[in-house]
Amino acid sequence: MYLRHQTRPVQVGNVTIGGSNDVIIQSMCTTKTADVQATVAEIHRLEEAGCQIVRVTVNNQEAAEAIKDIKEQISIPLVADIHFDYRLALKAIENGIDKVRINPGNIGRREKVEAVVKACKERGIPIRIGVNAGSLENHLLEKYGYPTPEAMVESALFHIGILEELDFHDIIVSLKASDVPMAIAAYTKAAEVIPYPLHLGITEAGTLFSGTVKSAAGLGALLAMGIGSTVRVSISADPVEEVKVARELLKSFGLITNAATLVSCPTCGRLDIDLFSIANEVEEYISKLKVPIKVSVLGCAVNGPGEAREADIGIAGARGEGLLFRYGEMIRKVPEQELVSELKKEIDYIVTEYERT
Ligand code: SF4
Repeated sequence: MYLRHQTRPVQVGNVTIGGSNDVIIQSMCTTKTADVQATVAEIHRLEEAGCQIVRVTVNNQEAAEAIKDIKEQISIPLVADIHFDYRLALKAIENGIDKVRINPGNIGRREKVEAVVKACKERGIPIRIGVNAGSLENHLLEKYGYPTPEAMVESALFHIGILEELDFHDIIVSLKASDVPMAIAAYTKAAEVIPYPLHLGITEAGTLFSGTVKSAAGLGALLAMGIGSTVRVSISADPVEEVKVARELLKSFGLITNAATLVSCPTCGRLDIDLFSIANEVEEYISKLKVPIKVSVLGCAVNGPGEAREADIGIAGARGEGLLFRYGEMIRKVPEQELVSELKKEIDYIVTEYERT
């Protein structure tokens, strides 16, 4: 377990971000928010994949109105993404939103900021300040010349200052950049001076493949330093993929305890079974499990048994068959064509046992 950077805990609906709590996985809907049916369906898919907080854009009055109906049909906290229009923020708050993503310095006149902060305070709704390297305030671009980690942190402190002046402290902060070193530097500096939870993200990271690698590089570096209370992976793909990437990333650091892990070998000339298909099928099968079991799928009986013994359940391939291991003990040999079905049965058995204890 990595030593986590301590922050003030902030309540978002029934989820706490920061403090000593788990790192929370977020995603964002790709649907038109006003299309309640499509949005709710996407949120249900995200929740099933392991998403714990979901954000929707609130870019018009119809979207703000839809919040009420969406909230009635989902169980994870809902966040409204608002850019400048404080009236949309007020409407989303009135309709039961759990968090608002808005930069107070962009709202405009003081009384508009006060109205949003007052409404959030009354309902215990936090505000996420979202600093983005691509949209820094003009006074910072004039000062620094171009986006820098220092300018990003100064932007965050500028918005935080506005909220603190109004005695508002339920704050979460993100400092996103698509440039990985810049994002790492910005978050590292922010963690030194900002007592609020940090929402990690590498923005506009790219497609499923490149975005996954980029996000893992940036978010992984930060998580390894104990920085970050919540993550959103941003990739140009089905948002369910964002959640899957985030879960895998957090699992790599031992930061979630409700997920199954697959260990599989890269294969080599010793391989005698169709390991790639088996590994992919098993990965898909365990992806929705909410128990911390370890499953290993290894190609041969040379290194396989040793690794399989480390897992709760595992197989090691042999010519036309496989050895099945449970808690380090070889329990039986299985013909290759029955390997996956037998492994799934054993996984189900272990999951049932785990849930019973
Ligand atoms: Fe090769 Fe066997 Fe190692 Fe897989 S487990 S990489 S097949 S030696």
